[in-house]
Amino acid sequence: MAYKFIDNYREQGARKRLVEVLRKKGIEDEGVLKAIGKIPRHYFFDETFWNQAYKDIAFPIGAGQTISQPYTVAYQTELLHIRKGDKVLEIGTGCGYQTCVLMELGAKVVTIERQEKLYERTIQVLPHMGYQPTFFLGDGSIGRAEHAPYDKIIVTAGAPTVPEVLLKQLNIGGILVIPVGDEQSQKMVTVLKTGEHDYERHVLDTFRFVPLVGDRAW
Ligand code: SAM
Repeated sequence: MAYKFIDNYREQGARKRLVEVLRKKGIEDEGVLKAIGKIPRHYFFDETFWNQAYKDIAFPIGAGQTISQPYTVAYQTELLHIRKGDKVLEIGTGCGYQTCVLMELGAKVVTIERQEKLYERTIQVLPHMGYQPTFFLGDGSIGRAEHAPYDKIIVTAGAPTVPEVLLKQLNIGGILVIPVGDEQSQKMVTVLKTGEHDYERHVLDTFRFVPLVGDRAW
């Protein structure tokens, strides 16, 4: 794919309209909306498809994967209640758009992708855009113990269950956001770690993600 990093009035205007669409769909966190209003989402698309970049849709990014729908990115991010300086583990880097949203909110991000082709592309694109997360290639379903504990963990692929190992890598007071279900549809689940072995779990709306593939996944 050929990438071009030019942000014209047309794209900037489309981005503003996308923010209004997300607001109408119920996204309230002004920090999240501001991040979406700032990040050039079309940088993650081949120029041929720039006209798709500010529609509220998921879109193929190669290797059978997708850039998540902006609403989904905003929804998951809002649930994380990111505070400046939070250490966040992201499982499923993909093209890195969600990573940029987290970093705009002041998070320090450790991000894992299992598809080498996507990983190789994203480690080039994000630093070029000014974002420097800690990247890993590998199976995120087991987390990344050497950087734990995390204040927040976000999983951007659909899991059959909540991997226990991820809960262990959360700080007390930390939040995990993960879509859980079968391969057709998943419910968004949030888990707040209230004590060393205590958790508060909430099951929210239905989404459709690509599958989380790995040792503690499909
Ligand atoms: N975060 C991306 C964005 O900003 O649009 C979307 C990610 S895409 C919906 C889900 C990603 O999770 C895919 O790139 C897929 O390869 C990756 N994935 C699936 N299982 C994984 C695993 N066990 N570890 C790391 N990444 C995984």
